[in-house]
Amino acid sequence: MEKLSEKFTDIEENLKVIRENIARAAVSSGRKPEDIYFMAVTKTVEPAYINHALANGVNLIGENRVQEFLEKEPELNLEGVSAHLIGHLQSNKARKIVGKVDVIQSVDTVEIAAEIGKRAVNAGITQKVLVEINVGNEWSKFGFQLDEVDEKICEIAGIEGVNVQGLMCVAPICEKKSDLMKIFSNMHNKFIDIDSKKIDNINMNILSMGMSGDYEDAILGGANLVRVGSAIFGPRLYRDKH
Ligand SMILES: *Cc1c(COP(=O)(O)O)cnc(C)c1O
Repeated sequence: MEKLSEKFTDIEENLKVIRENIARAAVSSGRKPEDIYFMAVTKTVEPAYINHALANGVNLIGENRVQEFLEKEPELNLEGVSAHLIGHLQSNKARKIVGKVDVIQSVDTVEIAAEIGKRAVNAGITQKVLVEINVGNEWSKFGFQLDEVDEKICEIAGIEGVNVQGLMCVAPICEKKSDLMKIFSNMHNKFIDIDSKKIDNINMNILSMGMSGDYEDAILGGANLVRVGSAIFGPRLYRDKH
């Protein structure tokens, strides 16, 4: 039991530090702290710890596997909490997750968007999605190239049952900070550019980028949703594919 309560205290302290960092980065980038969505990434984390984060004001969680989310969901106190899928979605799992999460952030092909749309229409809902961009990651091959997004996002927006809410990316580990900032700025420029075109069924509300190691830089680079896992809950036992 002692171990459990120690970890509870760690989570509280980590949340406090991260919120301060987010607030500072938000202000530095000319925004307000409350303009930034703070997601707790809960993959591999046990429900007791997730619930502790929820009890401490976390209102947005992200899971990267459909099965894991569905297994843990009944044990989570999700009232007033939004959940997003942030990991690659296989088409045979789309049926299970559509309507269960507020946003599917990881739409990485037109085909999966079509599958999501079909399932959403069957369920009589509209599924919000983000379009994932591949910004050159050594451990994730998922997402659209930046130079094909304009075309693909229009195809996705034309699919019944889906509504595009923004863009997401998983940044690679960069040795040079300037390389990382360039990636964030390319994402932000694309986000602004698509928004300015006022395309039907595309609302550029969310720019999801930044994780435990780079969420402050991501905010400085224009992110308004950061996805933070290990900085809250501690290191995971394995480095899973997202
Ligand atoms: C695991 C994961 C995160 C969080 O990673 P941390 O480095 O632990 O903060 C963010 N986004 C995606 C897509 C992930 O799979």
